[in-house]
Amino acid sequence: KYHEQLVELKGNIRVLCRVKPVLKEDQDEEGQAVVVTTDIHNESALTVLNKGKAKTFELDKVFHPQATQEEVFQEIEPLITSCIDGYHVCIFAYGQTGSGKTYTMEGTVENPGINQRALKHLFHEIEERKDMWTYTVTVSSVEIYNEVLRDLLSKDGEKLDIKMNPDGTGQLHVPGLRIMEVKSFQHIKKILATARRNRITFGTQMNQHSSRSHALLTVTVQGTDLASGATSSGKLNLVDLAGSERVWKSGAEGERLKEAQNINRSLLALGDVIQALRGHQTHIPFRNSRLTYLLQDSLGKGNKTAMVVQVSSLERNSGETLCSLKFAQRVC
Ligand code: ADP
Ligand code: MG
Repeated sequence: KYHEQLVELKGNIRVLCRVKPVLKEDQDEEGQAVVVTTDIHNESALTVLNKGKAKTFELDKVFHPQATQEEVFQEIEPLITSCIDGYHVCIFAYGQTGSGKTYTMEGTVENPGINQRALKHLFHEIEERKDMWTYTVTVSSVEIYNEVLRDLLSKDGEKLDIKMNPDGTGQLHVPGLRIMEVKSFQHIKKILATARRNRITFGTQMNQHSSRSHALLTVTVQGTDLASGATSSGKLNLVDLAGSERVWKSGAEGERLKEAQNINRSLLALGDVIQALRGHQTHIPFRNSRLTYLLQDSLGKGNKTAMVVQVSSLERNSGETLCSLKFAQRVC
């Protein structure tokens, strides 16, 4: 009973925090003070030292710096299964540039992250169910930079023109978006590699492009029950968000300021949407940014969301770390 109440209270958003380990390249000659600590006996709290004071944050789950990609994925796995059952799921990585968002979502060749593990699990589940259900899986991937959408699965990174609510029906439609049907995990691995390559290519055309853009991978899973003909329609959105650092503080002007405002627009809009959903408000401001517009059919009632808030434990990042944790508490 208590558990049920807790689930009701927390809704369908799980807020996780991953503390990045201190890497060699993060340290200067004197070494760097570490101000974020986790307690192995308390998996849902972390403490930040700031100006001599210790502040403790409570979240759904905290991953200490040594946590493996596998451990992080284990927390996410039930959401992937839900997606096959017909839920719409969003998984976000949030945090300042360099805090490990891309590591958590994409990972490396030796240590793949959530995206690859999720898709592997998905195809494994589909195989397990094949005597009872048949599934069609599609994938698409876009990058949102400066409120402009690019198709990460098209060779030339075509710009996509989305109009918010063009026909007044509220139906989401992105003309020209490449949607590919995928048959196997091997196939999707190739597609993920294309998306990653494209993201890097677009990135080199502009300064710090990749840290200021959101990368979105969307997977749809349409199922049919072989016996009854019943259908299910699940969707999985895997989102590597733009760096959350407050760029305007660094004296940005002109184009850079516009860019900073647009990035923050999407992040703020996302925070506003989640907060409105948590508060059970009737008006949810999906149309305030491209990101929230694209995710409108996957956020909110009946859907499931996990937000992985990435933080650095180094003293020099403590300001941003506190901001990220405050964001986490706002949506938590
Ligand atoms: P972001 O996407 O938030 O800007 P990255 O994921 O690119 O940050 O991480 C910055 C660097 O730190 C990368 O070289 C990445 O491989 C490394 N890194 C991040 N998190 C971890 C981790 N948990 N273990 C090992 N290396 C990590
Ligand atoms: Mg990144």
